[in-house]
Amino acid sequence: MILYGSKGAHLRTAPLPGTTCPACATPDGMKASVYSRYAHVYFIPSFPVSKTAVAQCDHCQQAWEEKNLPAQLQPAVRELRKSTRFPLWHWAGVGVLVLGLAGAAIAGRYHEHDRKAWLAAPHAGDIYTVHSPGDSTKYSLLKVVSAKGNTVEVVGNDYETDDSSPVSELNSPEKYGKESQSLTVLDLQIMHNKGQLTDVDRLEK
Ligand SMILES: [Zn+2]
Repeated sequence: MILYGSKGAHLRTAPLPGTTCPACATPDGMKASVYSRYAHVYFIPSFPVSKTAVAQCDHCQQAWEEKNLPAQLQPAVRELRKSTRFPLWHWAGVGVLVLGLAGAAIAGRYHEHDRKAWLAAPHAGDIYTVHSPGDSTKYSLLKVVSAKGNTVEVVGNDYETDDSSPVSELNSPEKYGKESQSLTVLDLQIMHNKGQLTDVDRLEK
């Protein structure tokens, strides 16, 4: 369940110079307050929705909402509302989201960089995520058992899965076959370029 809604906040109260109370005719006693409404998700403010103002007389305490404001107060109240900005914290949720997306993009780029570097210089223990031959929706693993120069010895995992990140599910020693096969770094790069080898994990440092 996603909890969301909107909340009101008081932004500013200021006098309305040069105005007279429409109810008691006292001059220079009018003030107006500006309120905002902002959307929140899980109680984190996300973005501002609207602004409204209420005018009140300090002398007789009569108050008017903006929608039924007497005409002689409208210009001053509208000016006050327009000049009152939404505070930055109304956007907190959007800020968090943007930072999160930027962080994920940076992490993704680092991972892509690692993947290419690790493919070019394999280590024993590297794990390659591969598409099963003939079925591009199934994934399995190849594990590097030794790496020497441009050649790696890999063992294939005996299992396959629909999960495109199968390491946590399939990477246990008893799930790998006994027979190893040799591949060159070039083979690995060709498999990567063809999309048969989709990821590289280096769990052992
Ligand atoms: Zn008044």
